[in-house]
Amino acid sequence: MKTTVAVVGAGPTGLACGIELERRDIGCVLFDKGCVVNSLYHYPTNMVFFTTPELLEIGDIPMTSMGEKPTRTEALKYYRRVANHYHLNVEQYTSVNRISGEDGDFTVHTTNRLGEEKLWQAQKVILATGYYDRPNYLNIPGEDLPKVIHYYKEAHPYYGHDVAVIGGKNSAAIAALELWWTGARVTLIHRRPELSDSIKYWIRPNIDNRIKNGEIKGYLSSCVKEIKPRTIVIETPEGEVEVANDFVFAMTGYHPDIEFLTAHGITFDPVTRRPYTDPKTLESARKGMYLAGVLVAGMHTNEIFIENGRFHGGQIAQAIAEELAN
Ligand code: NAP
Repeated sequence: MKTTVAVVGAGPTGLACGIELERRDIGCVLFDKGCVVNSLYHYPTNMVFFTTPELLEIGDIPMTSMGEKPTRTEALKYYRRVANHYHLNVEQYTSVNRISGEDGDFTVHTTNRLGEEKLWQAQKVILATGYYDRPNYLNIPGEDLPKVIHYYKEAHPYYGHDVAVIGGKNSAAIAALELWWTGARVTLIHRRPELSDSIKYWIRPNIDNRIKNGEIKGYLSSCVKEIKPRTIVIETPEGEVEVANDFVFAMTGYHPDIEFLTAHGITFDPVTRRPYTDPKTLESARKGMYLAGVLVAGMHTNEIFIENGRFHGGQIAQAIAEELAN
């Protein structure tokens, strides 16, 4: 199988890359190990974006929403429509296992959901794999128990249970509140003396007041030391406590697949931990391989969102068009 550009990842950034390539008459195939906008699909079911619809738009297709901010469902519908409108060739449920070869002659090794392996030849490769697949683990005993969850979907299954939420930013605050509203007994554990200032202004007073009133039990400056089948052990400033626990939501953030990047010749600044990319073209240290979206920021995942990552497609497609023309 052959294409001019292989785009790995069919999230909003990958789709924007595909659109910008198509607009320049450059053939491309997008690969995603899940469905189109797989990460958005796995976001909390009732999620409302923090941002307004026009900031999520790609391909100059207007996005609208019922409320001021779009819901996850509205975003899923929008990105499906955009992919369809631009006739993007997306190989869904197709994992890219490795990429061999060199600029102008890459081989993309893929496996589809039936386990069938396929090789694709491509002149250029764009990596737009995001960061949502890799949770930041706590590396504590018991973290591998099935009751430990890194992706919060919805609160209903946890009604009437003892639930711990770990983390002090937006995901932790939202999960803790929704779980409490739904009738779970919630404990929030955060390693710093206060919850983060990055919690949105319409969420912050709510979580602060729930903790202040004791409706959600808050342990600040505290760390979970061990997770046991029926309890968790928390190291607090007053000493160690062991509290009843049925489920743990580790809302500790996510990071890009650094091993995959490193194995493919992407190199990082040892101090900033950002991958080396040409700021104009976003080409990485591996010639012919480009980075798009949050990957450009490496471990600094709080710098690039859909709102700014969506513009990488135009930058990269223009650079590839100029290269191919030479
Ligand atoms: P995050 O912003 O990366 O926050 C992770 C939290 O976990 C931080 O409080 C961090 O502590 C803590 N943490 C990380 N590693 C830990 C460890 N080993 N032990 C204990 N605590 C640890 O993750 P997030 O809240 O999931 O947010 C991810 C992104 O999604 C953000 O950009 C956020 O704005 C966005 N988001 C959007 C929406 C929405 O649009 N509706 C909703 C939620 C989140 P420190 O504070 O010490 O770093």
